[in-house]
Amino acid sequence: MLIDSHAHLQDKDFSGEIDAVIQRAAEAGVQKIVCVGWDLESSRQAVNIARRHKGIYAVAGVHPHDASSLTSEVISKIYELAKDDKVVAIGEIGLDYYRNLSPQDVQKQAFIEQIRIARELHKPIVIHDRDAHQEVYNIVKKEKAGSNGGVMHCFSGHLPLAIDLMKEGFYLSLAGPVTYKNAKKTHEVAARVPMDRLMIETDCPYLTPEPQRGKRNEPAHVKLVAEKLAELRHKTLEEVAYLTSLNTQTVFRIKD
Ligand SMILES: [Zn+2]
Ligand SMILES: [Zn+2]
Repeated sequence: MLIDSHAHLQDKDFSGEIDAVIQRAAEAGVQKIVCVGWDLESSRQAVNIARRHKGIYAVAGVHPHDASSLTSEVISKIYELAKDDKVVAIGEIGLDYYRNLSPQDVQKQAFIEQIRIARELHKPIVIHDRDAHQEVYNIVKKEKAGSNGGVMHCFSGHLPLAIDLMKEGFYLSLAGPVTYKNAKKTHEVAARVPMDRLMIETDCPYLTPEPQRGKRNEPAHVKLVAEKLAELRHKTLEEVAYLTSLNTQTVFRIKD
């Protein structure tokens, strides 16, 4: 069994096709999918999809791109939504200093507020970090953000940062970029981080793995990420599938 630990099934790219996409995933051995929100509306949609489909779980939160939308009213709505049993984590939250679609101080404030929601609800967090490694680490450490566990999704940092984050309680999730030829830094992380801290994801509809790169991504393609990880770790696909699924279920406390 494979798990796609980070997908955006509610994205408009999948509209009208969600059932077919989930079906294709099942045929590829992907039996569970974690559907992640990026703002209030997409978080609500994630919960609705999770309620309708067995094996789908929701993550609710506001992405750093949308940090400007996190008013105090939205914070209380995310808080209420996140109490739902189908919501396995708060996310995706974090910092994106590559695109800076919300001002950096607003991103930081939104990140901290949502870490606090997760701590109050005793839920893990899903972190998005792009070009903000040091700042993300500083906040995570100061706020004890890993106290209920969490995952650095689509991890793009160096091995030393991976080690520091693991000490703070985090798991690392690898996406399509690990299949790219020039992703040397990510190959090193994938090859050397302890197997009991690794997860896999698609981040679909983005980040399509090789050799499908250029097309729309979907959860079935998490198998390509698993195959690359198996190659880098000198393990079988079955071993990688088993271990990454176990880790995902541990972080998100998925029992069924
Ligand atoms: Zn992200
Ligand atoms: Zn994402």
